[in-house]
Amino acid sequence: MFKKILIANRGEIACRVAATARRMGIKTVAVYSDADANAKHVASCDDAVHIGGSAPKDSYLQWERILQAAKQTGAEAIHPGYGFLSENDAFAIACQAAGLVFIGPPASAILAMGLKAESKRLMSAAGVPLVPGYHGTNQDAALLQVEADGIGYPVLIKASAGGGGKGMRVVDKSADFASALASCKREAINSFGNDSVLIEKYVQRPRHIEIQVFGDTQGHCVYLFERDCSVQRRHQKVLEEAPAPGLSQAMREAMGAAAVAAAKAVNYVGAGTVEFIVEQSEEIDGNAGMKFFFMEMNTRLQVEHPVTEAITGLDLVEWQLRVAAGEPLPLSQDQLHIKGHAIEARICAESPDNHFLPATGTLHVYRHGEHVAFERGTAKHPVRVDSGVREGDTISPFYDSMIAKLIVIGDTREHALALLDKALAQTHIVGLQTNVQFLRHVVASESFAKANLDTALIERERAVLFDQHPVTNDEAIEAAVAHIAQAEQSLQGDDPLSKTDAWRAYGESTRRFDFELGGAPQVIFYKASQIARLADQAQHGLQAVYVQKSEAADEMHIFTDKGAVVIRHIHRLSLVAAQDAHAGGGLNAPMPGKVVSFAVQAGDTVTKGQVVAVMEAMKMEHAITAPADGVVGELLYAAGEQVAEGAALLTLESKK
Ligand code: ADP
Ligand code: ADP
Ligand code: MG
Repeated sequence: MFKKILIANRGEIACRVAATARRMGIKTVAVYSDADANAKHVASCDDAVHIGGSAPKDSYLQWERILQAAKQTGAEAIHPGYGFLSENDAFAIACQAAGLVFIGPPASAILAMGLKAESKRLMSAAGVPLVPGYHGTNQDAALLQVEADGIGYPVLIKASAGGGGKGMRVVDKSADFASALASCKREAINSFGNDSVLIEKYVQRPRHIEIQVFGDTQGHCVYLFERDCSVQRRHQKVLEEAPAPGLSQAMREAMGAAAVAAAKAVNYVGAGTVEFIVEQSEEIDGNAGMKFFFMEMNTRLQVEHPVTEAITGLDLVEWQLRVAAGEPLPLSQDQLHIKGHAIEARICAESPDNHFLPATGTLHVYRHGEHVAFERGTAKHPVRVDSGVREGDTISPFYDSMIAKLIVIGDTREHALALLDKALAQTHIVGLQTNVQFLRHVVASESFAKANLDTALIERERAVLFDQHPVTNDEAIEAAVAHIAQAEQSLQGDDPLSKTDAWRAYGESTRRFDFELGGAPQVIFYKASQIARLADQAQHGLQAVYVQKSEAADEMHIFTDKGAVVIRHIHRLSLVAAQDAHAGGGLNAPMPGKVVSFAVQAGDTVTKGQVVAVMEAMKMEHAITAPADGVVGELLYAAGEQVAEGAALLTLESKK
């Protein structure tokens, strides 16, 4: 086995590889860009080498520097992760030329599967079923139109060099073909530098079901069952699960055999995924009305590999390292079994309600419920979180918007669904937009809950997925008031009697709260007894509140078991100041608290906006400013004294 490996990647997958290497006693070398100087993956490795600027082309795609880093640190092998150089055959060859082991398939297999059209010609020869379509080299537009008409609409135009869901166009009728072809080719040349396309029949009620395969250098090849990745947006995966709901054992075995045949056709070694598109139609006999076709092979570890680890009980990165070191596959086909049901949710920095626009920002709060990280979940620890970031880290515009992968393993699908919903509810992120709420809605949608799966699921369920506000305004306000009350109580000491006293001090006086919710002001009056009851209830409910303080308002991020909501608590002092500016006269405490200090003395002349006193309440200081020009009359309290809400702190006389 290797003593030291270099991980030519970043984020979650770099941390994932490092975790297995550490467990196996293998030393690791990280590489990092400017933006990643303090990244988690750097801290996760034994050694780290800076390789350039923040843009991928200046660092993670700079193979010369990566090879140099491996040489200089004495690494024997390079793990490419996914994305970046993982499916670059020239890089695999360069590793070999530099005397390093590329932890992946032979360059020839990467090349053979790299272009969708060519791989389809190969697969056709190997007897793997293909979607009816045109995969030829002749790219004449008139010929492509004839081919598309022959296949019958709808058809899908795909960039042969495409990936990541880019470079695809669905065409519904012949008249639309020419313009769709032109636009697909434009995108393909811009994104992949190659405008070759293929045309396929657009499969009805399509499901994406892929098979994990593994080969070794001794010529063995097995399949580690399937993953259903049908829940997609813009042809990109959102939720992945294993096993695929409703897949018969006969079809599983047929797909497994086809995937192994595909891998063997290119002498595959290491971890790979054969993606199939599955047609569902009542006209199909047997296999519960399903029929599968080869789509493409990804010659690397896949983002969603943890669901396979969960149901097989294996560590796929360990298998990759063993195979790359020349060992045979640890298990044979008949030793592999499925146990339980696993689902993965990709937590991304994005706004689902705004066309999934990627978001950037700092993870001010980043918490998950109880979980294990980078290791297989078990019945005892059914939640796994793989993440390349920590609280306080930034999601920058340079890289992928994925924050974490949340993986659950249950006895049954129903059990896994319940675990996933709970784990999502316990995922608290403040600082940037995420898809956590959206994922909860998808999990709860009728289609997903009943495993009525196909790639149109998100479109079909639009009405319950987008622009949802699971927490009502009243619930948000009550949670906010409860939190404010709790924070004030804890400020006044932990003794329950003193708390009661503190509240009794206000008697049944009403208190005013100024909030802003969804852009609209909300002014609420509560009796002290109501406030005390809310604070009590909140202590027993599933509720977390994180507060970002600022001068004019506190932004309160409230997470309840139903969902999350943001409410702004407007500081009374800014309102009081605004009101008093008209009224003139005394200055009142905007909330119960302590006078920290006075900035003025009796007789001082002050100007409007000048700080006259500082109060402390809710663990933060509030500056009290003069509402108008004037002369200070009398200080009504001394520094250090407690004051009730509304109490005048000093008097101010208008200047004559
Ligand atoms: P998987 O197929 O493993 O589920 P993806 O297809 O989403 O995952 O891609 C795997 C990785 O490669 C991700 O990190 C993704 O960002 C990256 N990737 C793949 N293709 C592209 C592309 N065309 N543009 C940007 N990133 C890509
Ligand atoms: P990529 O390299 O971008 O992952 P794929 O060929 O794997 O491209 O296709 C991505 C997605 O597009 C699939 O997961 C599926 O949702 C959809 N898709 C691909 N081919 C077809 C088809 N023939 N009919 C219907 N949907 C398809
Ligand atoms: Mg794909």
